[in-house]
Amino acid sequence: MKQRPDRGEVAHYIPELANVDPQHFGIAVVGVDGTVATGGDFDLPFSIQSVSKVFTLTLALGKVGDRLWSRVGREPSGSAFNSIVQLEYEKGIPRNPFINPGAIAVTDLILSGHQPREALGEILRFIRFLADDPAIVIDEKVAASEQRTGFRNAALANYMKSFGVLDNAVEMTLGVYFHQCAIAMSCLQLAKAGLFLAMSGRNPITGHQVIQAERARRINAVMMTCGHYDGSGEFAYRVGLPGKSGVGGGILCIAPGKASIAVWAPGLDAAGNSHLGRVALEALTKRMGWSIFGA
Ligand code: GLN
Repeated sequence: MKQRPDRGEVAHYIPELANVDPQHFGIAVVGVDGTVATGGDFDLPFSIQSVSKVFTLTLALGKVGDRLWSRVGREPSGSAFNSIVQLEYEKGIPRNPFINPGAIAVTDLILSGHQPREALGEILRFIRFLADDPAIVIDEKVAASEQRTGFRNAALANYMKSFGVLDNAVEMTLGVYFHQCAIAMSCLQLAKAGLFLAMSGRNPITGHQVIQAERARRINAVMMTCGHYDGSGEFAYRVGLPGKSGVGGGILCIAPGKASIAVWAPGLDAAGNSHLGRVALEALTKRMGWSIFGA
């Protein structure tokens, strides 16, 4: 485990992520007019981890529509991303799609009717389409590392399965989930992939209407309230924008009507969110007056 008190600690529970140099920092800002501003390691791919949950939620909503909300709630959890306790009180229904059990339930919906390889291909194709970049790939070493050690996620999935919340075999759903988390993207690719959420569901660079405006607004709302686990209140307080973090140290942040921003700094705070990433976003939104709560 590498320690840098001023930057936080890199995720060490996934062995492959423990090797990442905590000194990295990258940022990419893509405006709705297509303007791009970048800094630091903006071009270096990193493990997007839970940021993938934004894309799988979008994909699953497209597939099953609002039926998704019978499998997963949309309330902040107030607990850690891999916590199991709340599942017991709510009959295996996770509180939101951005904590691990919620994301596993969403992936299970995408998997239904497909082989794991097809479902994964669908997720990867969707992300490549959003970013308009066919070069995006899965880091197989990271996926294998988590597959070997993801006992907590296996517990969450088995627990949900016991309540009938998952339709597919636990190993298959988890296999897809671990691989979607292991997708590697740079800040620039990630900011481009999120741009449709800043523009009422339309990617202004490619001209594609990815989803309806109402759905984009709602995904942003869930990102705002649940995107940083039990650090979501703090992120809203400091940054004031919808955002989704991952334990790889990435954050995708949406300034509606203005820009899509991706930051990467591998050191995490106690809630598993990028420490320096949040600090950078706070400085940026303050300077730009982008908080949705007022300048
Ligand atoms: N793959 C990670 C896990 O399931 C994702 C967690 C995260 O990014 N917060 O533990």
